[in-house]
Amino acid sequence: MPTAVRRTARSRQFPSAHQPGRILPEHEWLPSASCRVVDPELFFPSGRETASRADEEAAKRICRGCPVREPCLAVAIRGQEQIGVWGGMTTAERRRLAVEARRLQTLGQEEAGRLLAGEAVPVAATSRPAVVFHLVSAGWQEAAIADAMGLSPDSVRTLRNTAENAAAFRHLVPAVDEEDEAESFGAAA
Ligand code: SF4
Repeated sequence: MPTAVRRTARSRQFPSAHQPGRILPEHEWLPSASCRVVDPELFFPSGRETASRADEEAAKRICRGCPVREPCLAVAIRGQEQIGVWGGMTTAERRRLAVEARRLQTLGQEEAGRLLAGEAVPVAATSRPAVVFHLVSAGWQEAAIADAMGLSPDSVRTLRNTAENAAAFRHLVPAVDEEDEAESFGAAA
């Protein structure tokens, strides 16, 4: 999105975090952005804060083939961009990713350790993806996790997917000691 939008007059309305070099050396990756020749309306709808679902999906398809998806997503997450598709994710998806990535850093280790030791441990909903992630990392199968946590196998698979998606991108999310828990990103569970 950044390149596509910056090609238009609307770029002047963009938040300051979009300015080149503000967060990452954008000049190194913006020239390779797949969206640089695409209608920016797909990524940043004018006159409204949210895009249509069809536009979002079209933008995400472009992002999936973009060679600079990761730095683009990092800019959006660290700049707490509130509008548009960046790096193949909507604002809501980036919020969820940031929240789950931070939870992986801070939650679930104690509960996972106690479950591994055979204890029956209640696990708060906010900690479940992290606990599942730690148990999978310790070699547990989904069926064993479901049994230990009192969840259905489908629930465990969903929690695992959530956690593994966050783990794949957590290097893009500021560490908890760099920034307070995602409150400043307007995060919601
Ligand atoms: S990941 Fe998407 S929004 Fe980011 S530069 Fe590439 S095409 Fe544009």
